[in-house]
Amino acid sequence: MKYIVLVPDGMSDLPVAELGERTPLEVAATPAMDWLARRGECGRVQTVPPGFEPGSDVAALSILGYDPRTCYTGRSPLEAASMGIELGPDDVAFRCNLVTLARRHGDLAMADYSGGHISSKEAAELMKTVDEHLGGAELAFYPGKMYRHLMVWHGGPEGCRTTPPHDILDQPIAGYLPDGAGRDRLRHLIARSADLLSAHPVNARRQAQGKAPANSIWLWGEGKAPHLQPFAQKYGLRGGVISAVDLVLGIGRHLGLRIIDVPGATGFTDTNYEGKAEYALKALEELDFVYVHVEATDEAGHMGDLEGKISAIEDFDRRVVQRLLEGLPRLGPHRILLLPDHATPVRLRTHCSDPVPALIYTSTHEVAGMPAYDEHLLEGECPLAMTAGHELMAHFLRLPHGAGVR
Ligand SMILES: [Zn+2]
Repeated sequence: MKYIVLVPDGMSDLPVAELGERTPLEVAATPAMDWLARRGECGRVQTVPPGFEPGSDVAALSILGYDPRTCYTGRSPLEAASMGIELGPDDVAFRCNLVTLARRHGDLAMADYSGGHISSKEAAELMKTVDEHLGGAELAFYPGKMYRHLMVWHGGPEGCRTTPPHDILDQPIAGYLPDGAGRDRLRHLIARSADLLSAHPVNARRQAQGKAPANSIWLWGEGKAPHLQPFAQKYGLRGGVISAVDLVLGIGRHLGLRIIDVPGATGFTDTNYEGKAEYALKALEELDFVYVHVEATDEAGHMGDLEGKISAIEDFDRRVVQRLLEGLPRLGPHRILLLPDHATPVRLRTHCSDPVPALIYTSTHEVAGMPAYDEHLLEGECPLAMTAGHELMAHFLRLPHGAGVR
């Protein structure tokens, strides 16, 4: 049996007034996902345990069968792993976004969590400046992709309180600056970076081109290295992961999954969708399991871009799911698990903790499912209803009840 997990990040949504109280997923043309829904076990899964921030890290751990309540130590340590950064026992990693701060009614506000979706190349220049001026024996800055970078504080404190920048869009930052342990140092770093970056030639060029400047860093998502049992040891399967997002790759690396590089995978709506499907199929010739993550649906949700979200959903359906459905039969019996990690409703422009619609399709055992793949899967009695999302993987892999779940 070959196992494939498809995760369109943030795809599920809430009813939208402009769509006649339907969701983007209901409105989008998704023949491939609907085909799966009609033949698969459908239901809802609570990927984010109560009391956790609804992030892709927590949700991805759940989906892969690891209980965030026992193994989650923060988002940045997972991203560090994907960047090949080994964290020592005393290291605290922080996500370091390049953001756009702007004056709104006299207050400095979070205008964009992504620094105008800055390119990786421009971002690397900015991060180099930040590291030269603010790095040193205790602090190191590492460039990642686009706006997503990392800071490691050797011997850093535990008990910082930080806020994800995408949760405070257009709000004054004053009430959301780092607090708790390390507060003064962290606030100083953000303020100093704003001085350095506002005057940077990369930003002067961006502004001349009418683009938003990436004029500050924003530190959040801190944590120490986690301890996670390797996937192969837990489930006895050889697996791989496809994603453009450091966070997801970092989880894969921690679990010992093979990192499958897809040329042109950007983590944005211009990503190489077909490549993800083709590389997944190719990997499955050798591996038993592959986890395919697509970020574009989440990005459209964060941008509050209704049209963009619908078209990202349609791209995912036609260019990833449909291609897989065409290619999988030649690999023999297979099972597909399809679910977003969490919802990113366009109206909220951030993640929420609601359960997500999920389906499991088994090529050798089709069942009577639902007419379409959308949020209606969340309603009523459904065969697949998981309140503890980390139990889903064992169910998907059909392990005896309770086995392999810790
Ligand atoms: Zn997101």
